[in-house]
Amino acid sequence: MAAFAYRCTACGRSYERDEVRYLCPECGRAYRPGIPLCGVLAAEFDADKIARRFRKSDPDWGLFCAVEPRYFPPYPMGWTPFFRAEALGRAARLPNTWVKNDALNPSGSLKDRASFLVAAEACRLGEGTIVAASTGNAASSLAAVCAAAGRRAVIFVPRSAPRAKLAQMLLHGASVVPVAGTYDDAFRLSLEYTARYGGLNRNTAYHPLTIEGKKTVGLEIWMQNKWRAPSVVLVPTGDGVILAGVAKAFEDLLAARLIPELPRLVCVQAERSDAIHRYIETGKYRAARNPSTIADSISVSVPANAHLARAAVMRSGGASLTVSDREIMEGQRVLAAVSGVFAEPAAAAAAAGLLKLRGRGLAGPADQVVVLVTGHGLKDIDAALRGLKIPEAIEPTEEGLETAAKRLRKMGVGR
Ligand SMILES: *Cc1c(COP(=O)(O)O)cnc(C)c1O
Ligand SMILES: [Zn+2]
Repeated sequence: MAAFAYRCTACGRSYERDEVRYLCPECGRAYRPGIPLCGVLAAEFDADKIARRFRKSDPDWGLFCAVEPRYFPPYPMGWTPFFRAEALGRAARLPNTWVKNDALNPSGSLKDRASFLVAAEACRLGEGTIVAASTGNAASSLAAVCAAAGRRAVIFVPRSAPRAKLAQMLLHGASVVPVAGTYDDAFRLSLEYTARYGGLNRNTAYHPLTIEGKKTVGLEIWMQNKWRAPSVVLVPTGDGVILAGVAKAFEDLLAARLIPELPRLVCVQAERSDAIHRYIETGKYRAARNPSTIADSISVSVPANAHLARAAVMRSGGASLTVSDREIMEGQRVLAAVSGVFAEPAAAAAAAGLLKLRGRGLAGPADQVVVLVTGHGLKDIDAALRGLKIPEAIEPTEEGLETAAKRLRKMGVGR
């Protein structure tokens, strides 16, 4: 049995599991489109029970999980590679740099963790339809998980989403509603849709189990890191739910006395989609006007989870950075060229943040720094190709081979 209660992160009221579904019924009343969500709920587990029962020799992850395993869809996700990336560390002058490659989830992004848990919840509730707004990855992930779970996915997505992500959604059989507008428009419309026409809404942070799902990446890092919390985790941030999820993992572990202190969380946002960054820096919330970045997955005007994300960074003693599109492209290139990891632009923002970390005095050589790679580069080939030039083809002849050899010699290759 999953034993937990929901607690409102704004007013602190507690609710039983099936008493509430989305926001705190009291605080949520203040919510209207155009502002961050109010009264986001957090699942609260019995920390003493976890402390008593959790065994590293035979870990029972169910102690941290808000849905019983019997409702899990047959969709193996998570347990992605975690490894030391020495050359990347040299590039960043942070020798103890590690990568958690969550691009290797089945649908190619970390979003699978949230979709999986919400789909499990839909199975528990006997709900056949799951509705979401997405910049692209939450939707392609939900479509894949719903295919495995035998649920219908209804998706509101900006029509400008990268084509690979649209292809994923359609191929997995989701009902896709492209919106001639922004992600923020899609978010609002999907909430109205579920309020009027039903279905379980999976919108990020609006459904509290999206945070719980994303939490699993933090628990995995802890285990894969030999049961230690790293010093710093770099989190590419749009709505701030991954940030809150990673924070929740380490806070649950701290509460159960399984780690002595929290890792410092570093929020990385795109320069022109920086509402959470500014909120962290100034303490004042303001929406990002006309967000625009090559990193579509973190392009958001009104971050749904701004309040919780800011609080998570502050509690962890962390910080926040922004990166320009040029720095994101450079982060993508360096990560790919020295570590073999191809990240989509939003995920590459974390690598771009890594390259600035030491210069900003936010980490030193002794720190263990984790770059969270949240989405796969193959999801947005057009973005990657912007910074690349495909070499001209050679003729399939002896002369062609000579041309190739000459070209390669110029690159320092061959005799
Ligand atoms: C969704 C997403 C993010 C940002 O997550 P938030 O919870 O919105 O902050 C970062 N990278 C990728 C690849 C994503 O799909
Ligand atoms: Zn409340």
